[in-house]
Amino acid sequence: MYRFISSRSKFLSSKSSVSTVSLCNHLSNSTNSADNKSQSNPSTSLPKLSGSSYQTQNLNGSPYFRRFNQNLSFLASKSGCNWFPSSGYLPNCGISDGNRSIIRCFSVEPERESIEYDVVIVGAGPAGLSAAIRLKQLCQEKGADLSVCVVEKGAEVGAHIISGNVFEPRALDELLPQWKQEQAPISVPASSDKFWFLTKDRAYSLPSPFDNRGNYVISLSQLVRWMGVKAEEFGVEIYPGFAASEILYGANNSVIGIGTNDMGIAKDGSKKENFQRGVELKGRLTLFAEGCRGSLSEKIIKKYQLREKVNAQHQTYALGIKEVWEIDESKHNPGAILHTLGWPLDKKTYGGSFLYHMKDRQVSIGLVVALNYRNPYLSPYEEFQKLKHHPAIKPILEGGTVIQYGARTLNEGGIQSIPYPVFPGGAIIGCSAGFINVPKIKGTHTAMKSGMLAAEAAFGALHEGSNLELYWETLRNSWIWEELYKARNYRPAFEHGLIPGMAISALEHYILKGKSPFTLKHGKPDHEATDVAQLHSPIEYPKPDGVFSFDVPTSLHRSNTNHEHDQPAHLRLRDPKIPELVNLPEYAGPESRYCPARVYEYVPNEKSQLKLQINAQNCLHCKACDIKDPKQNIEWTVPEGGGGPGYSVM
Ligand SMILES: Cc1cc2nc3c(=O)[nH]c(=O)nc-3n(C[C@H](O)[C@H](O)[C@H](O)COP(=O)(O)OP(=O)(O)OC[C@H]3O[C@@H](n4cnc5c(N)ncnc54)[C@H](O)[C@@H]3O)c2cc1C
Ligand code: SF4
Repeated sequence: MYRFISSRSKFLSSKSSVSTVSLCNHLSNSTNSADNKSQSNPSTSLPKLSGSSYQTQNLNGSPYFRRFNQNLSFLASKSGCNWFPSSGYLPNCGISDGNRSIIRCFSVEPERESIEYDVVIVGAGPAGLSAAIRLKQLCQEKGADLSVCVVEKGAEVGAHIISGNVFEPRALDELLPQWKQEQAPISVPASSDKFWFLTKDRAYSLPSPFDNRGNYVISLSQLVRWMGVKAEEFGVEIYPGFAASEILYGANNSVIGIGTNDMGIAKDGSKKENFQRGVELKGRLTLFAEGCRGSLSEKIIKKYQLREKVNAQHQTYALGIKEVWEIDESKHNPGAILHTLGWPLDKKTYGGSFLYHMKDRQVSIGLVVALNYRNPYLSPYEEFQKLKHHPAIKPILEGGTVIQYGARTLNEGGIQSIPYPVFPGGAIIGCSAGFINVPKIKGTHTAMKSGMLAAEAAFGALHEGSNLELYWETLRNSWIWEELYKARNYRPAFEHGLIPGMAISALEHYILKGKSPFTLKHGKPDHEATDVAQLHSPIEYPKPDGVFSFDVPTSLHRSNTNHEHDQPAHLRLRDPKIPELVNLPEYAGPESRYCPARVYEYVPNEKSQLKLQINAQNCLHCKACDIKDPKQNIEWTVPEGGGGPGYSVM
C-alpha cells in the first residue's frame, strides 16, 4: 500500500495529500471501523465487506488465495502441465519446489494491492464529485459511515476538464446551497445573449433562443477543482493520477470495482525500473463518471446491453475545440454570451461556435462540430482556425493572446440515446450516460444532478436496504428528464440540413415548446455517416497566420499535454491493416484531420508507401477517434495515470 501511495504521490496536489494521510490513518484504524460498518448495514443483497472497508487486502495471505493456490498446484500436477500464465495476483504462491518454472513465473510479478470501499467512483468531473459529496452528506444526515473514493486520470482534479462554460447553477444550488459564501469560482453572471448567423463576410443577428438569465460564465476546470476540495472536506478520498483501466467482475457477473493500470511499462511491454503494479479498488457499488464516451462505461453499456434494455438509440456526438484568450480591456464585457450558426461549416454539417466573456479579460472561444459530418476532408481544427478570421469575430480577439487550447467530445443524443443507467454492482452517471441538453448547450447541471440522484439511490441500497434501480426511477421523475424531453426534437431536426433544422427547431422551441406529438430519430451513427472520399473534393485550408490561427504543435503546447513517451500505445488498432487498406484509399485518411492533436499521420516508409503513424503522446483525450473512425477500428484506452492535458482555465 505504501508503494502505491509513494509512487503516485508526485501527482497528488497539496489538497490530495490530505487524502493520502487519511488513507494511512484508515488503514491503521481498520478493525474498529469494520465493526461499526457491519452494524450500520442492513442491506442483504449487496456484498458485505470482510473486515474493514479501508483495509488493505493482502490477497496472497487471504484464505481465498491459499485455496486458489492449492487448487492451482493440484491442477498442475493433475494435468502434467508445468506452466501457468502469470496473472500478477499470485506472487510466491507456494507451488511445489519440484516445479521451478511455475515458481519463477509467479515470483517475479509483484502482487496487486487491493483496497475496499463502499463506493468507488471513476472520474472526478462534475458528475463524479457531486455523487461523492451527496453520499457523504447523506452519511452526515443519517449518521452512517460509508467510505467513498474517486479515481481521476488527470494529474490533478480539473486537469482534464474542458467545457464552455455557461453554468446553470440549479444542481449546485441543491447540492451546496452555500456555494457563494464558500467562494466557489462562480463570479461572472451572464449579462447578455447574442445569436448570429454567419456567412463568410457577414454576421446576421437573430433572436436568441437562449435565456441565460441567472446563469454564470465560468471555467469548469476551476469549478471542479473547488468541488474536489469540498469533497475532501466531506471525507471523500480522491486519487488524481490514477486511471481506471479495467472493470473487476465478481460472482454473478456483477461489477465489484476497478483496476488501475500498471505504471512503468515500456513500449515493448518490458518492465522499466519504476515499474509498479496497478491497484484494485473494490466497491460494494461502483459509479462510472468518465464523461463523454467513457472507455469503461462503453464496455459496461455493451456488456449489459443497457441501450437495448430501454430501446435507446445509439449515442451521437460532437467535437468541441476551444481556446481561452486574454483580450484587450476595452473589448472585454464580462458575462456577454455569443453563439453562432453557419459559416465556417457547410450547410450539411451541424455545429456552431461560442464566445463567452469570463473574468479577468478572458474569453472562451470555441467551435462545436457534430461528428456525423460527411466530408472526410473536413478538419474541425482548421474550421476553428478559420472562424477566428471572420470579420465579426477577429476584432474581438485583435491585440489579445491565447492562454490555453483544448478539445473534447460532447454527446448530443439527448433523451433518445440514454441507456438504462444501472447494472449489477453500480451505475453510470453524467455524460458517460449522456444528459446534455443540446439546445441549451449545457450538460454540467444535468451531470451533477444525475450524480446526486445516483448517490441517493446508492446510499439507500447500501444503508437502508433499498435498491440501486431507484436511480432510474428518480431520474425519470427529475427535472433532468423534463428538460431533455422538451429538447428531444431539436438535434435530430438538423439531420435534414441547416435550414430545415433551424425551421423545425424554431417551431419546437417557440410554438410547440416540446409538446409535439412525435419524437424524431437520429440518423446513422457518426462513424457510418462519413462518405467515401471520391464523393467530395479536398478542402484547401489557409495557412495559419500565427496571430489568430495557429498550427497544431503551437496549440498542443498550450494544452500542456504530456504523456510518458515510453509506454504501450493507449490508442489501439483492432486491425492494424485497416488504416492502409480502408481508411486511406477509401476515406483519404480522415483520422489525420478529425484528430485535433495530430496524433494520426500518414507518413511514407522506405518504399514511399504511406503508413499510419500514431503520435500517442499528443493525445488530448477528446475521444473523437474512438467515435469517428469509419470502421470503429480505433480503441481509446487509458494511458498511464497522470498523462494527458493539463487544463487550468478551461
Ligand atoms: C466544448 C464544450 C463546451 C461545453 N459547454 C458547456 C456549457 O457551456 N455549459 C454546460 O453546462 N455544459 C457544457 N458542456 C458540457 C459539460 O462540459 C459536460 O456536460 C460535463 O463536463 C459532464 O460532466 P461529467 O462529470 O459527466 O464528465 P467530465 O466533465 O468529462 O469529467 C469526467 C472526468 O472523469 C475522468 N475520467 C474519465 N475516464 C476515466 C478513467 N477511466 N479513470 C479515471 N478518470 C477518468 C476525466 O479525466 C474527467 O476528469 C460543454 C462541453 C464541451 C466539450
Ligand atoms: S488521438 Fe483520439 S482522443 Fe486523442 S486527441 Fe486525437 S482524436 Fe482525440
